[in-house]
Amino acid sequence: MNTPTSVPAATCRDAPILKERGQREVFCGLTGIIWLHRKMQDAFFLVIGSRTCAHLLQSAAGVMIFAEPRFGTAILEEGDLAGMADAHEELDREVARLLSRRPDIKQLFLVGSCPSEVIKLDLARAAERLTQVHAPHVRVLNYSGSGIETTFTQGEDACLASMVPVLPSTDQRELLLVGALPDVVEDQAVSLLTQMGIGPIRVLPAPRTAEAPGIGPNTLFACLQPFLGDTAAALTRRGAHHIQAPFPFGEEGTTLWLRAIADEFGVDDETFARVTAAPRARARKAIANASEHLNGKTIFFLPDSQLEIPLARFLTRECGMEAIEIGQPYIHKGLVGPDMDLIPAGPTISEGQDVDKQLDRVRAARPDLTVCGLGLANPLEAEGLTTKWAIELVFTPVHFYEQAGDLAGLFSRPVRRRALLKLEAAE
Ligand code: SF4
Repeated sequence: MNTPTSVPAATCRDAPILKERGQREVFCGLTGIIWLHRKMQDAFFLVIGSRTCAHLLQSAAGVMIFAEPRFGTAILEEGDLAGMADAHEELDREVARLLSRRPDIKQLFLVGSCPSEVIKLDLARAAERLTQVHAPHVRVLNYSGSGIETTFTQGEDACLASMVPVLPSTDQRELLLVGALPDVVEDQAVSLLTQMGIGPIRVLPAPRTAEAPGIGPNTLFACLQPFLGDTAAALTRRGAHHIQAPFPFGEEGTTLWLRAIADEFGVDDETFARVTAAPRARARKAIANASEHLNGKTIFFLPDSQLEIPLARFLTRECGMEAIEIGQPYIHKGLVGPDMDLIPAGPTISEGQDVDKQLDRVRAARPDLTVCGLGLANPLEAEGLTTKWAIELVFTPVHFYEQAGDLAGLFSRPVRRRALLKLEAAE
């Protein structure tokens, strides 16, 4: 292996975890539809929810101007919620209407919400029934995007996990990349791996239902996002083998992620170095430029996106920051363990949230940068703290070498802005 990586003697993997189960401030899993509907071109996401759910989706995802929308909400009215109407009959009618109008839809997701869960609408049964009615043209699946889950990125995990049982079987030795990244970033990853001679490479989710990957005992899969625990478990149940590695954020994370896959496919050191040398050098240079204002600064992560541990690894090891607390909605060591192995013991590692207690810790520590959800950012800014919205990290291309400088830049911009404001105030 030609990837020199210093491994700390005592790491966060073995550190005690502060577990909190109080009030939390995060978006719900419906948010995932905003990026999933762009990725899956013949899918439709039908949220079975309230006007609030419809409003969230419309305001967050906006309107698709040039194409037919690929998401919508079947609104549960008061009669449904009071159990006075047969919601299943109504749903069947809505789906029939939608599919007759939209022959382009090949995969329909019934997405559960808080209201549909409160009235215990059995969407799994509905999906089965509707698949029988509309097969083979349309496959109907279901998952929950409700706010009862821990955090918003679980929406993507639940969606991908719902697809795994119906993926075709294969005995082919293939690499499966799991997670919905912007096409341009996904293309970069595929290109690097292909240059090393690794293939065939498949992706979940596939852009079209007909291109869905097969799964079997010779499938090797690597996750692109640290929030895909249920999907990884579902793939493992189907016999696929999980390639564990730090996540591809920054130069080091990307190199270790690629190296773990390259090792499975028997890529030699020389080939690996030839393919990665130039983009690694570009990434290092871009990070050095963008992280000038981060060096020596402290950072506090509130639990929000599930990206916190891998990002803390990147910011502490490649940008010179010091982490005070790394909070994550839930900690799945099977996914983020390799990142935890690289973070020296020291910061508090917390799981879940008790928001008031955690805000007290933020106020006591007064970090140079606090990464948190939208709802907490403004109040903290008003108290003179510098913040970064965690959700931006999910919507911005941040993976792999070519985005490493932009990733550091996302954190350095608010720190620089605060420094400029202080300067102006002092003049
Ligand atoms: S699923 Fe729940 S949290 Fe999400 S918008 Fe609907 S009601 Fe609100």
